[in-house]
Amino acid sequence: MKQALILAGGKGTRLKDRLGDLPKPLIRVGGKPLLEHQVALAWHHGFTDILVFACYRADAIQEALGDGARWGVRIRHELEAEPRGTAGAVLAAYDRLADTLLVLYGDTMVNVDLSRLWQAHQANGAEATLFLHPNDHPLDSDLVEVDATGRISAFHNRPHPPGQWRQNLVNAGLYVVNRRALEPWVATADRSPPCAGATGVKPGSRLLDFGRDVFPGMLAAGVHLHGYASPEYIKDIGTPERYDSVCAEYDAGVVHRSSLEVPQVAVFLDRDGTLVSEVSRQGVCSPDQLELLPGVAEAIRSLNRAGVRAVVITNQPVVAKGFCSEPELQVIHNKLETLLGRDHAFLDRIYYCPHHPEKGFLGERPELKVDCGCRKPRTGLIEQAIGELNIAREESWLIGDSTTDLQTARNAGLRSVLVGTGYGGKDGRHSATPDHACATLLEAVRHVLQHSTR
Ligand SMILES: [Zn+2]
Repeated sequence: MKQALILAGGKGTRLKDRLGDLPKPLIRVGGKPLLEHQVALAWHHGFTDILVFACYRADAIQEALGDGARWGVRIRHELEAEPRGTAGAVLAAYDRLADTLLVLYGDTMVNVDLSRLWQAHQANGAEATLFLHPNDHPLDSDLVEVDATGRISAFHNRPHPPGQWRQNLVNAGLYVVNRRALEPWVATADRSPPCAGATGVKPGSRLLDFGRDVFPGMLAAGVHLHGYASPEYIKDIGTPERYDSVCAEYDAGVVHRSSLEVPQVAVFLDRDGTLVSEVSRQGVCSPDQLELLPGVAEAIRSLNRAGVRAVVITNQPVVAKGFCSEPELQVIHNKLETLLGRDHAFLDRIYYCPHHPEKGFLGERPELKVDCGCRKPRTGLIEQAIGELNIAREESWLIGDSTTDLQTARNAGLRSVLVGTGYGGKDGRHSATPDHACATLLEAVRHVLQHSTR
């Protein structure tokens, strides 16, 4: 029996006008209390053992959900006499926790393929898997850094110093955690955090928070934490404005369509010459060489707002040629994400091919000098993205500046748009022609959105 925990201790002070004296997790979206959406989602993904942690107006929450018989699940109510923080509440119920637990925040509207998240946790071998997503205001968000394998390497809390290039990955408040990883925290949960690396809790304070205390403390202690990046829908309902926007998105079907259970529409984007300037024949080898082309942030923001996945697919033979290491390429991509973030735009995923087929150059990395399946016009990276993000091929597009991109689109069964920037299709490498051609990415995105069937 899979176990889900719902943290429903929030009061909702800023929503008083909408709630009266009801607690925040009972606010209604689409005619139903938020908590009912969460229980239904958990049930849908096979979580039939549910613990609900309530504090303010616990009686109303207990009355609304009952024992779960309505859904065919078992709901147990954990009542907190006083707030202990998100992790503090869970630790107080340590004896009732299963070996692995899913943690949901009761004041968020969530539509995530929980089965996929759960399976990822089983596969990655980490003690905790944190659901992360890019957002449209990363500069004033707490950010998480992951390495190429998805392992979490750092937490960067706001404010972010200027000139730092960061991945746009935000902790959304959805976790899968192994019970045994919480064990070291149990004895000290009522006093102070067990690890010097933890912050945000004053000595003597009894509030212990997963995001601020427990996960940074685990990371400092060398515990394996995994970042699960996904574009799916999670938004907290903390203010009237956020509540109204969640209701509007729910009514418009945005919440429903965001789950990776539902096939996604994507635009695959070439990087050099399409998003950023071509700097030389060598390619971009350092962050200071990377600059966005005009209108690119606006174009990507339009895709974000339409719920279309923006997925970069790029050949980066600079790695195989030894001009740039993979950690350096990561910093280049962090700059790309930071520049877009300043303009409230984000990429859902960046895939790159580090390989190059021709051997015999000074400084090259022989292990990457291979005839791979991921270098465009081959379609390995596109197939990977289609699998990982459940992309509907027949509704998706590729936008690029070279005939290699056009050939890739043809090989992958995608429609293509050629942009006039970069090579502008004049590289002469392949014979494939585009479905549409225009001057800039912004025009290309407008064309795609006009011809989108959703
Ligand atoms: Zn490759």
